[in-house]
Amino acid sequence: MLDMLKSVFSNLSKKPATRMYPYEERKPFDINRGHLENNIDECIFCGMCQRVCPSNCIKVDRKNGVWEYDPFECVICGVCVEKCPKKCLRLDTHYRSCTDKKYDVHLERHEDSEKAGA
Ligand code: SF4
Ligand code: SF4
Repeated sequence: MLDMLKSVFSNLSKKPATRMYPYEERKPFDINRGHLENNIDECIFCGMCQRVCPSNCIKVDRKNGVWEYDPFECVICGVCVEKCPKKCLRLDTHYRSCTDKKYDVHLERHEDSEKAGA
């Protein structure tokens, strides 16, 4: 009983161990994998990321210059980032924000991009 009271009073004087996420965000660690981003201006739509992805969550349409990604299927393994020949993929250290709806990331080649469609 005394031990329990000690714990209770000790915990009352400490800060909470949890955060009110998403209202209060934790500062990300440098090695955090966060979420996947693509700098579409550098992408050549080679399809390497689609081929190596273990979750099949990337779709590349080379002909139409479209890169699509389902963040809810991604396991943040980083293989696509490693294998991308243009190094246009990266794992941002921030987690994507909460949502109550699923969505796909849809990126298209810019018409004025000389690199695209190479
Ligand atoms: S591997 Fe890189 S360059 Fe190739 S389609 Fe994927 S993001 Fe684009
Ligand atoms: S991080 Fe892994 S699971 Fe996510 S898209 Fe890249 S290869 Fe696929």
